[in-house]
Amino acid sequence: MGEGDLIPEPRAAPVVRAPRRLSAPRRLSARAVGFAAAVVGAAVLAAFAAGAACRRSAASLPNVLLIVMDTTRADRCSVMDAATGIPPTTPRLSQLAATGVRFTDAWTPGGWTAPAHASLFTGLRPDRHKVDVGRRMFLDESVPTMAGELGPAGWRTACFTNNELVGADLGLVRGFERWDGLFLDAARPYPWCDATHAKVLDWALGVHRAGGRFFAFVNDMEPHLPYTPPEDVAARFLPPDATPEEIAEARAFDFPKTLPVMLGTQVLTARQRTILTALYDAEIATLDASIGRMLDTLAQEGVLDETLVIVCGDHGENLGDHGLVEHRFSLHRSIRRVPLVMRLPGRLDGGRTVASVVSLEDVLPTVFQLCGIAIPPGLDGVSLLGPAAARDAFGSQGPPGEFLDRMRALVPGCDPSRFASSLRAVYDGRFDYVRDETGREELYDVALDPAEERDLAPAGGAELTRMRSKLSGGR
Ligand SMILES: [Zn+2]
Repeated sequence: MGEGDLIPEPRAAPVVRAPRRLSAPRRLSARAVGFAAAVVGAAVLAAFAAGAACRRSAASLPNVLLIVMDTTRADRCSVMDAATGIPPTTPRLSQLAATGVRFTDAWTPGGWTAPAHASLFTGLRPDRHKVDVGRRMFLDESVPTMAGELGPAGWRTACFTNNELVGADLGLVRGFERWDGLFLDAARPYPWCDATHAKVLDWALGVHRAGGRFFAFVNDMEPHLPYTPPEDVAARFLPPDATPEEIAEARAFDFPKTLPVMLGTQVLTARQRTILTALYDAEIATLDASIGRMLDTLAQEGVLDETLVIVCGDHGENLGDHGLVEHRFSLHRSIRRVPLVMRLPGRLDGGRTVASVVSLEDVLPTVFQLCGIAIPPGLDGVSLLGPAAARDAFGSQGPPGEFLDRMRALVPGCDPSRFASSLRAVYDGRFDYVRDETGREELYDVALDPAEERDLAPAGGAELTRMRSKLSGGR
């Protein structure tokens, strides 16, 4: 599907809409409708009462610009972790955060694109929306989505995606009136982000000039493998003595060359990790600069301060961490902790830093609260406009299934069986606990060991017991 494949204009509707039930995402029988209507009616009243204090007048409702930096881990973003001495990868996000809010302990509930986006779009964790866990790889049509609610409430909605997983095949673009599958254009020059953002601006400013409000979702893929940033940007991050051969090898590192590393038959040297990380940093910096230019244009057009801007990662990336690369088979901090910056003058502003644990499923209720849309009951996420409360960040990942067969075919004689299990994880703001379905477990004290290099699980102890209990509780 290309740019011209649009679905009809959204229908007019009141700003505040009735939430639908989430606890039983299935089609209702005719006999059940009466009961369901009564339940929804009660939920509407409760939601109206909760939301009334924060509802804005229609005239002041914001545009929404939600940008996913695909495959971006928080600890390589200077806006998140400047104090660790990493290079300035994200000066433009730092500029955004200086008048917005940065969330320095934000986690994704899914370890790869599909479940993470489904959580972003629904406010539910993967075990609820089912995109990933159990391999039921389609977002149930009864689950309300961000675009599906914003559209009928008066927002023009468009999805600009460079990731083929964010498409119709998995049901993730349901509700958008326009879907640009930018990845379908094989001839597009790299990096893709400038052309992507030009399309976003063209559409969004068109909506604005026509007197409308927009919700633009953008998925940018620069930080995803292979790491092939523009050479001038790469030169700012590479070691000065990196040889052309070393750089070429790192630029060519991509699936399936990643598999021997994953399987342990090839170990990346510290030097290889340094160069891969430098190129990865340069990809983030390339995207950061392009996002900055897009925000500059919105500011010049007088739109930026009327726009809720949200920039996040969908998941991170292993760069040799835990002997792993890319983002399969892992729910470690390198995969689950993502950047998150929000800005809306008057609501999310002041250059504040929120250090408490938040999660990507919190984005939808936050957006709905700021847009005057009743937050559906039963979400896993909570609005980030409320008082910060002690929370745990849960994560899960389904079993890889036939992907193991693909590994066996690509690496004859390999044994990928240790990756056969599903994974679950919980992080409580200090300890990060990961367990697979066979009971194999890992525990890290993130405060003392942010790189998660010292597994505390073999030693047992009270923290292990506590975190096991948290994961068993599930929420
Ligand atoms: Zn992704």
